[in-house]
Amino acid sequence: MSFKALGLSEALLKAVQKKGYTTPSPIQQKAIPPILLGKDVLASAQTGTGKTAGFTLPLLHILSENPKEKYRPIRALILTPTRELAAQVYANVREYSEYLNIRSAVIFGGVNQKPQVATIRQGVDVLVATPGRLLDLESQNLLSLKRVEIFVLDEADRMLDMGFLRDIERVMRLMPDRRQNLMFSATFSKDIKKLAHGILHNPIQVEA
Ligand code: AMP
Repeated sequence: MSFKALGLSEALLKAVQKKGYTTPSPIQQKAIPPILLGKDVLASAQTGTGKTAGFTLPLLHILSENPKEKYRPIRALILTPTRELAAQVYANVREYSEYLNIRSAVIFGGVNQKPQVATIRQGVDVLVATPGRLLDLESQNLLSLKRVEIFVLDEADRMLDMGFLRDIERVMRLMPDRRQNLMFSATFSKDIKKLAHGILHNPIQVEA
């Protein structure tokens, strides 16, 4: 199995090659095809399995295939529990989108909001965010999630451990009902399954 066989565009294959990856990891082999088909996906994957590329590559593929607008609404939202993870995921998004006409940004708390707001104002296709700062900026009308097409919940189990359930529910109410949802979690407690049930529609389940 190759990245090309998964159906990813040349621009993404080039970025993957630059990273030095030769073969897609098991979670990538299983998650990428259904995501490219537009399905909701529930993935069981620990850190280190290549899960970030597992959702980022197909997400970028989908966005770059569809026509762009001059005014760039946020079309994909990737929610992460911590700022460290947000920064890491954002670094990946940047690398994989190097040969695409896709703009991205990251926002998290604990730092001045001004530079983050300035970047978002210029228009971004992909936003990586932690829940608190996201809701904060939205409530100030500094960003809108009304045009989100793809929602990714990364490390969903850690999200719940950190008490973000209410925030996740709030974020969901700010997005259109019609959207693709991807949820990644290392563990599957009763609470995670309940959360998945509330977010995902007829999900394809995959495991690393
Ligand atoms: P993640 O699980 O997303 O945190 O990724 C773990 C590490 O694996 C990161 O350093 C990635 O750059 C790397 N990685 C992701 N996909 C592949 C791949 N197909 N081949 C080799 N390394 C990869």
